[in-house]
Amino acid sequence: MSSQTIFEKSLKDVHQSITKPRQAVFDALQHHQSLTTAQLIAACPDVDRASVYRTVDLFETLDIVKRIPNGWKYRLELGEAFLEHHHHATCRICGASIALPENPALEKTMQELAARRSFTLESHQIELVGICEACTS
Ligand SMILES: [Zn+2]
Ligand SMILES: [Zn+2]
Repeated sequence: MSSQTIFEKSLKDVHQSITKPRQAVFDALQHHQSLTTAQLIAACPDVDRASVYRTVDLFETLDIVKRIPNGWKYRLELGEAFLEHHHHATCRICGASIALPENPALEKTMQELAARRSFTLESHQIELVGICEACTS
């Protein structure tokens, strides 16, 4: 299934229509790895600010978008149906959010660690903080 098909289905499942603002917000999210709300608003010049906020709220309830903790703020990126599951490393100097490669062994280890405490792991967020390549040089 293409991202567009998943997107359309997510909305149809809850009897929501694909409006121009919703499509614009989705396109902007698709074309960027992750965005702050301000960047998302800038990337949708034809959509007013209030509509962007409303659309993000709706998308969040439908798991179309998720908030990635980034220091004490957050960035927005498409939900896991649209992307492979991965973690992020945040640069503490410039704030860049770098998607790390997927690692099935790491995922399995976390399930196992949780299971050792009889805990059923449903999701996790790992935030790695450091200094990016650009800020090192
Ligand atoms: Zn940096
Ligand atoms: Zn993971």
